[in-house]
Amino acid sequence: MTVYSNSLLSTYEQCPLKYKLRYRDRIKRKFETVEGFLGTMVHWTLRKCYDDHRFGVNMNMDGLLSHFNGLWKHRWNDSIIIMKKDKTSEDYKSRGEEMLGDYYRHYSPFNSDQTIDTELSISFFLDDAHKYRMIGYIDRLSKTSDGIIQIHDFKTSANLPNQNDADTDRQLALYQLGVQQKWPDYNTIHLIWHYLAFDMELVSLRSPEAICELAWNTMSLIDEIESTQEFPPRESGLCDWCEYPDLCPIRKNIVIKESFTKNEYDSQQGVILVDRFALLNNRGEGTEGEMEKVKIELIEYALREGIDVIRGNEYQVKITPVNKMKIRGESDIESTELENIIHEVGKWAKVFQNDITSLGAVFDNNLWSNELMEQIMKYSNDEKGYSIQISRPGNLKR
Ligand code: SF4
Repeated sequence: MTVYSNSLLSTYEQCPLKYKLRYRDRIKRKFETVEGFLGTMVHWTLRKCYDDHRFGVNMNMDGLLSHFNGLWKHRWNDSIIIMKKDKTSEDYKSRGEEMLGDYYRHYSPFNSDQTIDTELSISFFLDDAHKYRMIGYIDRLSKTSDGIIQIHDFKTSANLPNQNDADTDRQLALYQLGVQQKWPDYNTIHLIWHYLAFDMELVSLRSPEAICELAWNTMSLIDEIESTQEFPPRESGLCDWCEYPDLCPIRKNIVIKESFTKNEYDSQQGVILVDRFALLNNRGEGTEGEMEKVKIELIEYALREGIDVIRGNEYQVKITPVNKMKIRGESDIESTELENIIHEVGKWAKVFQNDITSLGAVFDNNLWSNELMEQIMKYSNDEKGYSIQISRPGNLKR
């Protein structure tokens, strides 16, 4: 079985398609965001600070910042992506300096505990049979003078989670399991997140029962990942930071948009169709016939291009496959039998005048008893169809 890490599991939860592209298909992309780069530089700097301290060398604030700036200069390259167009690499570097400055002022001279290791690679099992294996890296492992083991994680994110988020976080709790397997005598373990942008710590303590439950839940998630054949895209705010937009049926259309000039883009068939559909949709009454025609063209376009979301100038449409029940009524005998059943229970006049094919709507809206629906289903087929949802996306740019 694959060796899992927390980030691999999180990627699956965030978007199964991204997980498949990254970990199953192993499609490599050179993709580094400035936020990721900043996080790495800050981690390396703190690692150096604590490693030096273990060997009796105390970095002063200037030394710490100069190490960070040296790393930044040496490692920065133009392929690093800055999504926020109003920010520059210098802005992010200054943010790193501020975070490290605050951290230094808060924790210097770094002797409230003893560092056991930094960037500690840890490998452990979730079960006694050693079927489910995991790996991880602990930013810093330390021990206090009263014997408390601390698992530290440095975070450079701009969001501060709440205590409940910390108490339900999976990553450090899994590392606790790993530490306890490696050092069974370590009984009291504190999980500590350092949110550097806020100069704040979040601390969480987990009971043996909580760790046991976490292991069970993680094994079931791994079972689900191992057995699934479906890896649908799951759109979220994190899509802007995804390295596979060109392979994603939801985002592909946005990438295509970027490669055209405005005039070229406006002349794209998908854009024309979405704009037309939006216009008819806004007009409402009297446009049903034409809307049906545009819907068919949109579906054909989406299938041909292999996309689920088509963007227009102001709106986007999402096309989702659905199964619809369709009454056959193929032969006169079948139609008559079906009509008789419905007449017998006195429902005919309520729903139909003469048209038996409108029965599908009764099913879609779950209007009748299960028993009657089951009887009627014998006269129906499942038919593949598509639903179309139109919306106005908040952000039309990648
Ligand atoms: S762009 Fe979003 S939905 Fe598409 S693969 Fe990436 S994370 Fe998933």
